[in-house]
Amino acid sequence: MYDLIIIGSGPAGLSAAIYAQRGKLNFLVLEKTGFSGGQIMNTEQVDNYLGMNGIGGYDMAMKFREHADQLGVTFETDEVVSVEPEQGKDSKQTYRITLKSGKILDTKTVLIATGAKHRPLGVPGEDAFAGKGVSYCATCDGAFYRDKTVAVVGGGDVAVEDAIYLSKLCRQVYLIHRREGLRASKRVQEQMRQTPNITFLPYHEVTEIAGEGSVGSLKIVQNQTGEKKEIAVSGIFIAVGMLPETSAFLELVETDAGGYVCAGEDSITSRPGVFVAGDVRAKALRQIVTAVSDGANAVASVEKYLYM
Ligand code: NAP
Repeated sequence: MYDLIIIGSGPAGLSAAIYAQRGKLNFLVLEKTGFSGGQIMNTEQVDNYLGMNGIGGYDMAMKFREHADQLGVTFETDEVVSVEPEQGKDSKQTYRITLKSGKILDTKTVLIATGAKHRPLGVPGEDAFAGKGVSYCATCDGAFYRDKTVAVVGGGDVAVEDAIYLSKLCRQVYLIHRREGLRASKRVQEQMRQTPNITFLPYHEVTEIAGEGSVGSLKIVQNQTGEKKEIAVSGIFIAVGMLPETSAFLELVETDAGGYVCAGEDSITSRPGVFVAGDVRAKALRQIVTAVSDGANAVASVEKYLYM
């Protein structure tokens, strides 16, 4: 019987692991892919984490993981299929976790730190051309589009940073956004506007991704005038936000309208013994620093729950 199972090894899960190890809990970190770091693995550069300005996302993930390894944290690669409550010996609630491999784990507490995944655009051609011109990660796939014309869809930090990143590799980059205002930070907006090979297309929406064998063009519409156009591109990078990874927990804990797990800064969910940390938690600001902070708060709450 574990004291704690941490599900996910992004910044929230790894931060929790550091605190749990120092607190001498009997615990395990489960990671789905065998790679730690979560979304930062696909971030080219991180400029807003205290003391590490300019660090590459991959390097940061390695540093986080090394810290956990140095302390002797145990990781296991497997996917959680379900988490079911069961009654422990001392009448305290315990949990049975079923993994994709068929393995069963019993634990006194659970920390959901599963993060979020890319939101699909939901247009014809998106699934058919997945991996054939449709990408959700500019830093992973950008090199395939050297000297070509590509489009990025979205208006957040990820979309604008992706457009800037791709402008260094590609001949031309369209940034397609459904309105004029961008959510991205002012600094990257300025950088984007000063980049000559980025064409910003506000008030435009993609209605279809077309091509033969791979992406060849996008059908787009100006959503104020209704004017339709087709633009030739070799690739489309979809950066329209994230969806929380909660499919295995929907019966277990309360979630908000967006599917994020409801909990305050103390990470305490609607289910005693189940905690949540990082981007999967309902909160206002999803950043590496807030995920790391969640991990620490969550373990403090786990310790209170176990020992008080
Ligand atoms: P985001 O900030 O939620 O932006 C998503 C964008 O996609 C919005 O501009 C939204 O348009 C657009 N969108 C959503 N659904 C759409 C649809 N169906 N069709 C067309 N457009 C659609 O998401 P994000 O850029 O992935 O960033 C996620 C979080 O990570 C944010 O808090 C961001 O600040 C943070 N982040 C920070 C950094 C950094 O600080 N270096 C880097 C990356 C990400 P509307 O604006 O019209 O809603």
